[in-house]
Formats: sequence, structure tokens, C-alpha cells
Amino acid sequence: MTEYICRPTKRIKLNESPKWYAYAILTDEYAKEPPLVKVYLSKLENKRQISRVMQELSKLLPVEQMKLQHLKRVRQQDILLFKMNDLNGQTVTEYLVSVGLSAEIVELLCKNIHETDVFASAPMLRWQYELAQLRWPCKFHPDKYMESLNEGSIFSEKQRNFHTKILYLLNEISSELENNKPCGICIDPRTNAVVALATSRTTISPLMHCPTVLIDFVARSQGGGAWQKEFLHEFQNVDENLFNKNKINPSMSGIPSHYLHFIRADKRFEDIKIGAEPPRSKTMIESADQTALSSVGNLEKYGPYLCTGYEMFLSQEPCLMCAMALVHSRVRRVYFQKRSKNGALVSRLKLHSVKELNHHYEVFECKEICS
Ligand SMILES: [Zn+2]
Repeated sequence: MTEYICRPTKRIKLNESPKWYAYAILTDEYAKEPPLVKVYLSKLENKRQISRVMQELSKLLPVEQMKLQHLKRVRQQDILLFKMNDLNGQTVTEYLVSVGLSAEIVELLCKNIHETDVFASAPMLRWQYELAQLRWPCKFHPDKYMESLNEGSIFSEKQRNFHTKILYLLNEISSELENNKPCGICIDPRTNAVVALATSRTTISPLMHCPTVLIDFVARSQGGGAWQKEFLHEFQNVDENLFNKNKINPSMSGIPSHYLHFIRADKRFEDIKIGAEPPRSKTMIESADQTALSSVGNLEKYGPYLCTGYEMFLSQEPCLMCAMALVHSRVRRVYFQKRSKNGALVSRLKLHSVKELNHHYEVFECKEICS
């Protein structure tokens, strides 16, 4: 087993290494300005007319019907009427008459018509809300969690230190044992223990990109794994006695033996916890709430099931095949270091923003901050 622990003599110590910060890659509805839509406004001659106009408008031309319910109806003497696209060849007057407004109100509204651009959908984050307000008053329901993801305040200092430690281990395994091949680590966030650790094995099969191998090794920790035969030799000679101190859960079968010995033989990694919880009974998994399978709550309640509730740290942004494999495995969070040319989480597309998929994970790009 010592054959794996040959390293260059000069090594960087963990406390000298740069700190890693994880930044959320948000889907476009949070990351971009909402699209604009052209609407008609009417400027009333005085404010006393507003309540009479609104009585008819809210009944006969409600904002909900125009899918503009995120907008307020009135700004000083300006009244929001309808989307320009709704006219369908009619004039504004004809349209207002056609929806059933009284002649008196139509006359009031048509005295001073003008157009403007407003946000076509509701602002999701405060920065979008502030931009939206500049155009037209709108409603806003702040989402604390999404704001913290956007600001980067979601992680505590302790969590950031943990990310740094895991990325450090990831990079050391990749550079010292694997000739800088892409590497990945799966973590159980309940215990912060390493569940599985894998490197790309495309020399064995073109499908064995790092994330697919990592998912397969997580399956091993649950008594499964599609590539049992191919990796048999990597999981032999494990002396479990070596791991009593930092073993959290009984299953270490998601971590190849040479990585286990590398971690254990090196003082820099002495506080790295290892071990996966073995699966519980099948009936419990089947009764789990399928819509919330990715949550840590379900991991707590039902035990490990695929990658439910787990977090993946990858040295490279996954390709589309691997990003989909991570969807199928129901992972909770994906952290990656380097962007890839074919990356499917930010470079080519954001797979996690495809609403039609039946599972979505959170994505973080990790950046080195030198102090
Ligand atoms: Zn891939």
C-alpha cells in the first residue's frame, strides 16, 4: 500500500494555501434582468378620477388577466392600461370599449395615452426589484435564502474553511496520485464526512468521466455500483483498523483503498472524516416524498438513497452527460473549480435551470482568493 504514497518532498501546507470561495451559479431568472414588455398608460387630469376609473378597470381589465399581477396599477396620475400586443389591430379606444368599459371612463382614459416599457415578470431578487421600480411600481416578495445565495452570504466561515479543506484534498489527490486528472469528492453534509472519492477513468471506458465514476462509487457505499468488476482492484486491502479515529459511519466502500491510505498516512488530512451511512430498508425509501427527495431532511429521515442530500465537489465543471447523471442521482449541491469548454452548468448552458427536469441541484463555482 505504500506504493501510493510517493510524493514530492516540497509541499504546500494547508494553512498557507489560498482560500476557496463558493459562488452560486444562479439560473437566469435570478441572474438576469427580467424581459420588458410595452404597455399603454393613461395620465388622468386629476387624482380624484382614480377611484372611479379603478372601479371599472379592476373588474373589466384586471392585471391578473394580462399576467401583469406583479405590477401596481397606479403611479401618481398615471394608470396602467394593458399590453400593446393585446390590441390586435384595434385602436386603444376600440379596445377599451370592447372590454366593456363605460363611455365616460373610456373618454377619461383616452385623453392622454402614452406608452412605456415595464418588466414582463416579477422581480425575484432585490437588485431586480430596484431596477423594476425605476420603470414602474411593482410588488416584491423577498426570498431570504435566494438573496443569501446571490450575495454569497449563505456560507459561514466554518463552512468556507471546510470547502477549502475538501478542495485542498481534491487537488492533492489529483496532483499527487492521479497525474492531474479530474477528481471528485462526495460529502454527506450531515456529518461532513467523505462518502466517495473518484477520478476520471476514461482509459477503462469513455463513459467513465469523473462524476459518473463518483456516482458509481456512492452506489458502492450503498451495496450497489454498475462497475464492480472494473474497479475491483481499487477496493482491495483496506485495513479498517486504520480508520477508527475519523470514521463517522461504517461504510467506506465508496473510497478506493489507495485514497484511503493516502488520507490516513498524511497528517494534513487527519481531521478529514470518512464513511457513509449504509442504506436503510427499501420500504422507507419508497414511501419518501419523491418531490423532496433531494433534501437533507429526506436523507435524515430515510437514509442514503442514490445521492439524495449529498454534495459533490468536482475539480472540473461537468459535461452534459455527467450533469444529467448528477440530476438522475438526485444530488443536492454541485461545487466545481475549473470551468470546462463543454461544461453544462455555466459554460455551454445551465442545466439546473431547465424547469422540465424533475430534479434540480444547486451549483457553485469555487474561486481561489489569495489573502
Ligand atoms: Zn462528463
